[in-house]
Amino acid sequence: FRLDGKTALITGGNRGIGLAIARLFGEAGATCVLTSRSQTPGLAALLEAHPDRYRWVQEDVTDPEAGARLVAATCEAFGRLDVLVNNAGNQHVSPIDEFPVEKWDAIIAINLSSAFHTTAVALPMMREAGWGRVINVASAHGLTASPYKSAYIAAKHGIVGLSKTTALETAEDPITCNAICPGYVLTDIVEKQIPDTMKEYDMSREEVIKNVMLKRQPSKEFATVEQLGGTATFLCSEAGDQITGTTISVDGGWTAL
Ligand code: NDP
Repeated sequence: FRLDGKTALITGGNRGIGLAIARLFGEAGATCVLTSRSQTPGLAALLEAHPDRYRWVQEDVTDPEAGARLVAATCEAFGRLDVLVNNAGNQHVSPIDEFPVEKWDAIIAINLSSAFHTTAVALPMMREAGWGRVINVASAHGLTASPYKSAYIAAKHGIVGLSKTTALETAEDPITCNAICPGYVLTDIVEKQIPDTMKEYDMSREEVIKNVMLKRQPSKEFATVEQLGGTATFLCSEAGDQITGTTISVDGGWTAL
């Protein structure tokens, strides 16, 4: 699929799934604005290799004003915004009765509210341009639950609901909105959960990967960031014109169980 002439805004674009989506969009011909709080070597290399194709904007998406600033920055950089990928996310693992309130608030702000703020500003522009794609990176945890991840699961179920509502409000426009629901992908957000999960279940790293994480992923394999990038690219294609308001699982069969 080609995305020549299209511009994407990708939150959480400095590593992991967001960076892979940016790579695949770029290879398909799109220009991209990537945002995160920090730079990474992978992001720096991409910016240096393709200065005309990628821009990076530093933002903390817990700020409700960040969404409007990001959309404005995208228009300033490339004159348009066609594809919005709400991908920034974070996690904290703890029982509900010990869950720090500030962690709850941050997880809801980053994984859910930030998508509301960007979408609210992006939709009128997409309507005016006569084409648009909103792609929300939810999770298998947007469709199922696990213990000790209350805020993340609430936020991911929330973004699935937001995706459906966005789809209905744009159903008569040439705009689609969907949620991609990955199973486990071995990125930083997963690496960071391993020590806490080891403590919680009193297991080794290998046991956590095999018996906790991939236990629910029947393929027994992590999904890859490239597979997520490919799914996002597909949703931007003409084949995706009537795919809206749904969830696309990339989870090795997790949600089939
Ligand atoms: P990473 O931890 O590698 O990436 C998270 C991204 O979010 C980073 O770019 C990070 O940048 C950004 N981010 C976090 N907090 C903020 C903030 N306050 N403001 C701006 N940006 C922020 O994780 P993944 O690539 O794995 O995750 C991407 C998405 O995929 C997330 O929504 C995640 O929930 C979802 N997902 C991941 C799965 C997995 O197994 N990996 C499974 C299911 C869903 P920085 O820290 O520099 O700000």
